[in-house]
Amino acid sequence: MAKLVNRFIALLCLFGAIILIIMSSRRLFEQQQVLVQTPAVLVHQQPDLATKAVAKLKKGMHLDVVGRRTHWYQVRLNRRQSGWIRSDQINALAVRRMQQQDARHSNKGTVVSTNKTIEIITDQANTKLRAKPATKGKILAVLPKNKKLGLIKRSGNWYKVRTNDNQVGYVASWIVTEQAKLVPIHKPANLASAIIVLDPGHGGSDSGAISGTGQFEKTYTIKVAKLTAQKLRRLGTKVVLTRTNDRFVSLAKRPQIANQLNADAFISFHFDSSGEQNDASGFTTYYYRRQKDIAFAKTINRNLNRLPLPNKGIRYGNFQVLRDNQRPSILLEMGYINTTKDFKRIKSAKYRDQIATQVVKGLQQYFDQN
Ligand SMILES: [Zn+2]
Repeated sequence: MAKLVNRFIALLCLFGAIILIIMSSRRLFEQQQVLVQTPAVLVHQQPDLATKAVAKLKKGMHLDVVGRRTHWYQVRLNRRQSGWIRSDQINALAVRRMQQQDARHSNKGTVVSTNKTIEIITDQANTKLRAKPATKGKILAVLPKNKKLGLIKRSGNWYKVRTNDNQVGYVASWIVTEQAKLVPIHKPANLASAIIVLDPGHGGSDSGAISGTGQFEKTYTIKVAKLTAQKLRRLGTKVVLTRTNDRFVSLAKRPQIANQLNADAFISFHFDSSGEQNDASGFTTYYYRRQKDIAFAKTINRNLNRLPLPNKGIRYGNFQVLRDNQRPSILLEMGYINTTKDFKRIKSAKYRDQIATQVVKGLQQYFDQN
C-alpha cells in the first residue's frame, strides 16, 4: 500500500513539474524583448523575406517579441501592427528576456527594481470583447474563461484591453478580475544606449503657473526640456519629447509615451508656484513609486545641488504623469515662477543650461550605478 502511495506521489510531482516548465517557458517567451544594435534592421509583413518590409528599425529601439517561428521573431511595432525579423539578424539584436530569473544571469542589463503592470483575467466563458465601453458596443471577439488580457486603461466601469494576438477592445469590469503582475525594469549599461522621455509640463491652452509679470510656466518647461534633449542626443542617447512645440498634450498621454517606448527614464519638467507671491523658493524632486523611482530621484536631486537655488529635496508626489508611469520616472519643480528671485533664474538661459547639464550628469550617474 505504502509503495502504491509513494508511486502516486512521485507521479503527481512529475506532472506538476511538467506543468511548471510549460508555464514558465511560456511566460519567458511572452515577455521577451529585442534591442536593435545596428541601424536599418528590416521588419517584414510575414516571416518570409519576399514579403514587403513594413518598417526599418533604428539603433537603440526596444520591441516586444510577440511570436516566434523557425528563423524569425515577430515583434510589436505599435498597438495595431506587428512584423517579422529574421533571427539571423540576431547579431544586430540583443534579446532581452523580461523575466527576472533570467535577467539575473544576463549581463545585458541589470534588474534595478520591479514594477506592477496590470493583467485582466476573464471570470466567465463567452466574455465579449467590444468596440466601445458599452453593452451595446459591437462584439469584436468572444473570449473564453481565464483568458489573460493586457490592461491599456480604465474607462468608467470598463477596461480597455489588448489580447495576446493584439486585438484591442473593451471588457466590462464586473465580469473580469484585475491582477497585478511584477515586471522587472532593466537598466541599460549606459546612458548612450538608453531611451529617455522628457516631458515639458503644460502647453497650448494649459499655460501652467503664471509669474508675477504674467509669464507662463509652459514657456520655460519646453526650453529646459529641449536643452536637456540636445545635450543627451550629443551623447548618442535616444530622446523623445512628449511635446516639441506649444501644444496641449493630455496628462494621460504623457506617461503612455514612456510606457509604450519602454523608456529607461522619464523626467517631467515644471516650475512651482506658491499661494502667495514671493512665499517660497527652491526646487523639488518628486517620485511616486519608491521601488522603481527613488534611486533615480536621489541621483538626479544630488546633482542639482550645484544650482543657485535652495534644494528642497525629494518628495512623494501623486502626479498622474508619475502615477500612470510604469518606467522609472520623476517630476522636477525647478523653482517658483511667482517668486521674483526664483523667476529671475528661470528666465535666464544660464540657469536653464545649468539644470540641463546637471540632469544629464545625474542620468549618467544613474545608468552607471549597478
Ligand atoms: Zn507645472
